[in-house]
Parts: sequence; C-alpha cells; structure tokens
Amino acid sequence: MSEKPKVGWYWCASCGGCEESFVDLAERLLTVFDAVDIVFCPVAMDFKKEDVEKLPDGSITVTFINGGIRLEEHVEMVKLLRRKSKIVIAYGACSAWGGIPGLANLYDLDEVLSRKYFEVPSIDNPDKVVPCKITKVKLKEVDEEIELELPKALPALLPLDKVIEVDYYIPGCPPTPDVFWNALEALLKGELPPKGSVLGALNKSLCDECPLNETKPDKILLKDLKRPHEVIPEEGKCLLAQGLLCLGPVTRGGCGALCIKANMPCTGCFGPLDNIIDYGGKALSYIASIIDFEDEPDLNKVYDKIPDWVGILYRYYLPASKIGGKAGLKKSKIQDRVVEYG
Ligand code: SF4
Ligand code: SF4
Repeated sequence: MSEKPKVGWYWCASCGGCEESFVDLAERLLTVFDAVDIVFCPVAMDFKKEDVEKLPDGSITVTFINGGIRLEEHVEMVKLLRRKSKIVIAYGACSAWGGIPGLANLYDLDEVLSRKYFEVPSIDNPDKVVPCKITKVKLKEVDEEIELELPKALPALLPLDKVIEVDYYIPGCPPTPDVFWNALEALLKGELPPKGSVLGALNKSLCDECPLNETKPDKILLKDLKRPHEVIPEEGKCLLAQGLLCLGPVTRGGCGALCIKANMPCTGCFGPLDNIIDYGGKALSYIASIIDFEDEPDLNKVYDKIPDWVGILYRYYLPASKIGGKAGLKKSKIQDRVVEYG
C-alpha cells in the first residue's frame, strides 16, 4: 500500500478564523483524514517542533501556513517547515498579503505596543506590563528569581513570501470551505497550476459570480457614498449602484459572493486578480472612475464620507503593497527593555 501524502498546518499571527475554515469542511473532513496523514498541526494536535525537526527534509507533501509573520518564532518555524515540505501554501489573506493585522504596519512597533498595552480605553494595566524579550520575576514564596523569555516581535508584520518561498496561495479571510476543498482536490489529484498561482478561487472578478450582477449598470456614477450602517440596501439590486462601496469589481471571485448574499458589500478579502501589482491602487483607481463630482467641495463631500481610506482600500493588503506603511523604520525601545517584577 502506498504511503498517504503527509500534510502540515501551522499558524502564525492568526485570529483563528483560518483554522475554523478547516473545521468548516464538516463531513468532508472525514475524506481528508482518509486521504492524508497530518504530521503537524499545533492548533488541534499535540505535535512539538522537535517532531518536525526529526522528519527528513522534503518529506511533508504540503504545508499550509496561515497568519502573518509577526514574531521571530514565526520566522524560525516557517523556515523549518519550508525545508521539510515539498509544497508550501500561504493560506488566507494574512499569510498571502498581511491581512487585517498588517494594518498595524501603519505604525512602528512601539506605537503598536503602547496603544495596545497602555492607551486603549479598555486597558487596565497599572504596572505597565508589556511583553518584552526578557522578564525577570521574583517568586517571593521561594525567594527565587526566574527569567521568562518571549519571542521578539518583528518591527513589521510580513506576508509569508517575504520570508520563505511560497508555492501557492489560497485567498480569503478566511478562505471558504469550498475554496479550500477545491485546492485540496487539485493537490490530491496532482492537477496543479504553475508555481505562484492562486489555488481554489477564480481568475475573474467577484462581480462575475455575483447574483446581483444583472442589476449592475454598465456605467456607474456616484454622487455620494454610503456606509453599511447608514442604509438598509434594496434587495436584489447591485450594492455599488446603491452607493455602497462594494469592492467586487476589483476583487478575485470564488467565494460564492457570501457577503453580498448577506447584503454586505465586498471588502476585498480574496485580493487582486492575476497580474494586478497593487490591490489598493487598483481599487482607488476604480473608485475614482465612478465618482461624479463638479468641483473640489463636491469631491471632498464624498471623500470625507470614508474616515479611513487606507483601512478600506488596503484592509487585507498593506504589507504586500507598494505603499507599505511606516513600520520597520524604528527599533523598538519598549520590547528591548529587561523588565523586573515582584
Ligand atoms: S486571513 Fe482572516 S481569518 Fe485568516 S487568520 Fe487572517 S484575519 Fe483570521
Ligand atoms: S459591485 Fe458588488 S454588488 Fe454589484 S455586482 Fe459587483 S459584487 Fe455584486
């Protein structure tokens, strides 16, 4: 009997949604478990790093890696997994382009740490505790001092392919179970597109598969933009034509238009189509082409409607974009402190 393909799964800076999408395969999971051997999957099984180190190089058939690269531990693990795997797949928007946590790259690391641990209104941190590389703690009960070590955060969050070579990308935040399933089938049948391709999704825009496409006018001209909380959209009518900023025209399809079916405009989590070099740039140029204005005050009225243009246009894409952000320019003073407690 021939050996089953070995599969690994690793999470970096992840919200857990990508792992959830694996679970959402539901009964199809049984087929997956029949077809492959899972050799590493820290979110669900108690494998250790040493288990991976013991495997021969190139012996894992495919490893899925989700989440962005934020810690030095992530760098170490993905380099190890690259060595052990024939195919590495960037799974989900964070791994492919940086995703939502990548918006932190608008700030340097100390601004991020200080906001998170000292400033947000819900924080209760009178001792100003913050994760540092080295923390010395006095254990009064046994009159002993111990040193706790945490992996350092990188100055910026990186997409996976800025750290290791990536063979394929599965888009989405998270990828839908069908997209994941399509990709798995292609992998198991060995029907793979050229290296560097997107697996499981379409190379057509979301509008192409959107059930509201028939109602989308050939030419859209908007005098105003509406935000989702401001209106109850008219059912059965293209959301963009109703003034809601739907990014379907510039976003890769294949998700089944799930958000649109729930009356929510597309926010772009399937990323750009092939050959688009900057998702946000493409989105901006599309939006600019559909805004109808007479003069500057008229344009400003529309512009001011969106409080965070970068967050809208680069929601999933900032670390992979041409504009990048300012992260990485300054060394962190906060996390390099040695802190003592107790
Ligand atoms: S791609 Fe989306 S679902 Fe997956 S880890 Fe990132 S934020 Fe979570
Ligand atoms: S713009 Fe949005 S709502 Fe309109 S057809 Fe495209 S994906 Fe559908």
